[in-house]
Amino acid sequence: MQPKTLTAEVVSIGDEMTSGARLDTNAQWLSRRLGELGIEVTFHSTVGDTLQHNIDVFRIAAGRADVVVCTGGLGPTRDDLTRQALAAVVDQPLELRQSALDHIQGLFARRNREMPPRNEIQAMFPVGSLQILNPQGTAPGVDVTVRRGDHSTSRIFALPGVPAEMKRMFDETVAPRILEISGGSRTHIEHEVMKFFGVGESDMEQRLGEMIDRDHVPRVGITVSAATISLRISAIGQSPQECRQQIESTRAEILERVGDLHFGDGEEFEQYHAVEKLLAERGESLVSLELGRSAVLADWFASLGQSSAYRGGFCFANLDELAAVLEVDYAAAMETLRRRAGAQWLVAVDAYPPLESNADSPLPAAEVTLIVIDPTGEVFSTTSRLGGHPSIIYQRIGKAALAWLRHTLAESPAPRPASPTAES
Ligand code: ATP
Ligand code: MG
Repeated sequence: MQPKTLTAEVVSIGDEMTSGARLDTNAQWLSRRLGELGIEVTFHSTVGDTLQHNIDVFRIAAGRADVVVCTGGLGPTRDDLTRQALAAVVDQPLELRQSALDHIQGLFARRNREMPPRNEIQAMFPVGSLQILNPQGTAPGVDVTVRRGDHSTSRIFALPGVPAEMKRMFDETVAPRILEISGGSRTHIEHEVMKFFGVGESDMEQRLGEMIDRDHVPRVGITVSAATISLRISAIGQSPQECRQQIESTRAEILERVGDLHFGDGEEFEQYHAVEKLLAERGESLVSLELGRSAVLADWFASLGQSSAYRGGFCFANLDELAAVLEVDYAAAMETLRRRAGAQWLVAVDAYPPLESNADSPLPAAEVTLIVIDPTGEVFSTTSRLGGHPSIIYQRIGKAALAWLRHTLAESPAPRPASPTAES
């Protein structure tokens, strides 16, 4: 049976969004996910913490969309009114659900705390509604079916506002229920995220061609964050195996087209993870040197915690200052740093451009030199013209340096495991 195309409305609840104090990122995330499920998101609504306004918004949304996903207002405080609004919309009283209460009390017990009485409200559900398990927080979600005048129905899924909680609940519980509603036998969904660096989004789109069309099976979504491109494959099928097969063949096709830019997989995987992995496999280590007004590389590598592949990061205004500190010639400064740090590899950025503190328009492209020194002391350097918005220019430059390092590493034969790296 052909699954029917459902429409959805995403509702965001909270004064912090209507007042502009906080950006509604949940709606963006949910809309992408719904799109991956083949659901057309037709409306976004944002509403403050006022009961009657919430009821109005739910009534309108349920009247015009098959699926409504809302976030916020499930907390225990007086301004959290989502469950009351849902009860009003389906015209049912709230009842206490023991299993939800047990979950909430268990959560407090594990934190060695007594459950405050007001949290009991989070175990109240409109009669006839379903729960949505929240493994990470106190507020379970609410899943209610709204009957419409024409005997059709709309399904409202209410999730907490906390982004990490709502994401997990959507993936684990809401997405499978939506696939069920959409009918057909394709009730499994699997995702895979592939990461790329080295071209702009439009070049990437061009090379991928019809693979990123909306009706491609499986769907391939493209997103860009500070010059890192993510391709997210979402396979919907009758079984996990069928999903895996779709993903594997799509992956192969993507690698054929843009494999040269691929550096790894996973939502959170970045080039510095790839570099650390490569170096760890080779039993080698890196020191970074950043000249100018940033130290993004040091920051990224520091976030890895203890790592035998990273000796440390240095940041100076310019090479003269490094040379003065090391008391060596300007020309010998980088190689001296590599040796004294006890690293096989050095990566350097010369230099991050200065930014006006209030700069808000894209920086014109400027020349930046990226330098890599290999375990034998050989220097590989390249000059790139890099520009972009001030909010991402330093990351873009740092990532270009890592791409240059990966390139150089790939050209360099791995050390033989038998001979420990004797040099330096
Ligand atoms: P809680 O159990 O934490 O009280 P809740 O359902 O009541 O959950 P809120 O109190 O509305 O959720 O929001 C909790 C947190 O999530 C707040 O920090 C809020 O700013 C954030 N948040 C809520 N909605 C959104 C949204 N649409 N986008 C991004 N952040 C959001
Ligand atoms: Mg709130």
